[in-house]
Amino acid sequence: MSYFSITNVSKSYDEQPALYPFSLELEKGAFLAIVGESGSGKSTLLKIMAGLEAQDTGEVFLEGEPILNPNQKIVSGYDEIRLIHQNFHLYPNSNVEENISRQLLHYEKTYSKNRVEYLLQLLGLSAFRERYPRQLSGGQKQKVAIGKAMAVEPDILLLDEPFSSLDTIQTHHLISELKETFRATGTTVVFVTHDLDDALRLTDNLIILQKGRVVQKGSSRQLCEKPKTKYVARLFSPINKLPNARNGYIRPADVKLRTKGGLLAHVTDSRFLVHFNSLQVQLKESGIIWEIDDPQRKYDVGDRVYVSWDDSKVMDF
Ligand code: ADP
Ligand code: MG
Repeated sequence: MSYFSITNVSKSYDEQPALYPFSLELEKGAFLAIVGESGSGKSTLLKIMAGLEAQDTGEVFLEGEPILNPNQKIVSGYDEIRLIHQNFHLYPNSNVEENISRQLLHYEKTYSKNRVEYLLQLLGLSAFRERYPRQLSGGQKQKVAIGKAMAVEPDILLLDEPFSSLDTIQTHHLISELKETFRATGTTVVFVTHDLDDALRLTDNLIILQKGRVVQKGSSRQLCEKPKTKYVARLFSPINKLPNARNGYIRPADVKLRTKGGLLAHVTDSRFLVHFNSLQVQLKESGIIWEIDDPQRKYDVGDRVYVSWDDSKVMDF
């Protein structure tokens, strides 16, 4: 028996399937990311996992005990499983400390006080304890929301697009802090996002959802190198269709650029990105447009280039 288990859970809204039968087994302390575009069923799945939404079929178990949904239980939700919403749900008229301590009203005073101190420390919020939500940055608000959810020592933390209101620098910062926090507390974490990059920074254990269905599971490397569908492949980078190969595609980073030898192409656009120039080229014979990484920043608009690739890098769908 696994620690957290979801068997054939599905859900439709107005006869429209939002989630097709979904199953998952998680060990204690696991850290899973579920990635999918908007509308792929991520929030629906998390709400069902937390017992906050009634599924049409299937069951959720934590350590063998069924998680009851709102149709089966008067007060929906569980202290053991906490869902952190995308838009934080903080109490606007309570400061940081109160936001966290309000979760612990029914607990013994000394315990509650110590727990709040511990969380403020852990999340680096001690200096902000007296501030109100409106006086906090997006990253700080996110941490308070996490502090609120962690107050009752949940076994499972479900994070719904936790970084969508933060900028890239804040996100990278928060991600490295959270990784440490979750490791230190041994919390089991499931986090959903539309942003593959955030998922890759947090964990190596991924599930890709598309239109309510699991399209692939695996490590980052498996998904990047052996994507089963174009949808999965495109989460990592654009893909270029090979001329004359019906289902063969190559990634921009896997195309070799030479001054001779290969297929002739012309550079039609070039953009300066952090690690390389991103070129747009048009293949002469087929007219197909490709995107290619030029890490040496060697080519300019108008240049003739020859493109080639290793067959081992070709993806077939
Ligand atoms: P995601 O979180 O991946 O964006 P959701 O789980 O929110 O996806 O939604 C999946 C699908 O279910 C979408 O098509 C959405 O419009 C629909 N949906 C979600 N919640 C409701 C609801 N309460 N009523 C009707 N349709 C809903
Ligand atoms: Mg959502």
